[in-house]
Amino acid sequence: MTAELVEEGQTTATPWRPSPVIAGSMGLHGLAGVGLVVSPEAWLLALGVVAANHAALTAAGMWPRSTWLGPNVRRLPAKAEARAEIALTFDDGPDPAVTPKVLDLLDERRVTATFFCIGERARAHADLCREIVRRGHGVENHSRRHLPTFPLLGLAGIRREIAAAQASIVQSTGTAPRFFRPPAGLRSPLLDPVLHSLGLRLVSWTRRGYDTRHQPGPVTAKLLGGLRAGDILLLHDGQCARTPAGVPVVLEVLPRVLDAAERARLRPVTLHHAIDT
Ligand SMILES: [Zn+2]
Repeated sequence: MTAELVEEGQTTATPWRPSPVIAGSMGLHGLAGVGLVVSPEAWLLALGVVAANHAALTAAGMWPRSTWLGPNVRRLPAKAEARAEIALTFDDGPDPAVTPKVLDLLDERRVTATFFCIGERARAHADLCREIVRRGHGVENHSRRHLPTFPLLGLAGIRREIAAAQASIVQSTGTAPRFFRPPAGLRSPLLDPVLHSLGLRLVSWTRRGYDTRHQPGPVTAKLLGGLRAGDILLLHDGQCARTPAGVPVVLEVLPRVLDAAERARLRPVTLHHAIDT
């Protein structure tokens, strides 16, 4: 893996550093190799150690809030928490049938949010992306196509998916995303060096309500359970479920979340504001 990473090159000022778990895994591979040279009959043990290591890394990648594979923003920083801020994040848009209504709900309360847009949709609905930014919200990178196979891609494939979305969003809004969230939050150990080289930070969430599958009641309960300053909440303006009456679930959940935030005197802000200011 090391050679591949070096070939990939770094365009940012500081060199990429593997997380302790990744560094340990690299060391383990080296030890297994040395072990094979010194004691070839131990090949089965070496193979077992390497296989177990890969299984552990794969499991970490399937756990969206894991920090094993590299830095992962799961809550807002302490300074934002001290300002009583929270971040609402909307994934998988923009969607012309839903996103404008989400924007209106946010406007009514004079709060801002962050939209993790899919590159192809950002390109198809460039006017909507511009409108999101015009109203003071952030548009961030959620990959070009939202592939279910994203965690299985190699370095070049991951880079292409992220760079293409970055280009579509820049073309639509004139602003380059600073944050990336992988499809479904799933990733491999190869994501971190690519994000580093593109100058992006991985953002997951504090809580999600599964609004692509469930009805407003349980979604709201999950999102608001233990709501406090510094939380990052995940909702969907794209691919969201519908109520039996055909209403996008996010449009019923969002007013309840905004009510709760108001009652708790918490201020929803963009990730950019919370993290970079
Ligand atoms: Zn998504």
